[in-house]
Amino acid sequence: MCKHILNAQVSIRAPCCKQWYDCSECHAEKQTHKLVKTMEMGFLCKKCKKAFYKDMEKYEESDEFCPYCDNHYVIEAKIPHAVVGVEGEDARIDARMLKDERVKAKNNHSVFELDPDEEAALLDF
Ligand SMILES: [Zn+2]
Ligand SMILES: [Zn+2]
Ligand SMILES: [Zn+2]
Repeated sequence: MCKHILNAQVSIRAPCCKQWYDCSECHAEKQTHKLVKTMEMGFLCKKCKKAFYKDMEKYEESDEFCPYCDNHYVIEAKIPHAVVGVEGEDARIDARMLKDERVKAKNNHSVFELDPDEEAALLDF
């Protein structure tokens, strides 16, 4: 299931890794390489589950329909706004964790390399 385009009508075959994805974002999440652009795109209709190829160089309006079931698969994408919000939140959490990690590392450092004053203070305690 694609969480970027909620109303995706087709899957697209990535020419680079020969995998089916609902959108380029899904590909980016699963793969570390860039999606290769091709002139002959492979599609899989979600309605009739049949695969077909389109020459992107000669793409015209009639090509926006599945050749098997006439499903209009080129449609305005419904993009869930909540996903964008959650991603922003995650980035903030990650940044905070990175900061904590640095603070911890610094503390560890001083524990292993105590200067005499600090050692005395610890013993007093
Ligand atoms: Zn790929
Ligand atoms: Zn997606
Ligand atoms: Zn179809």
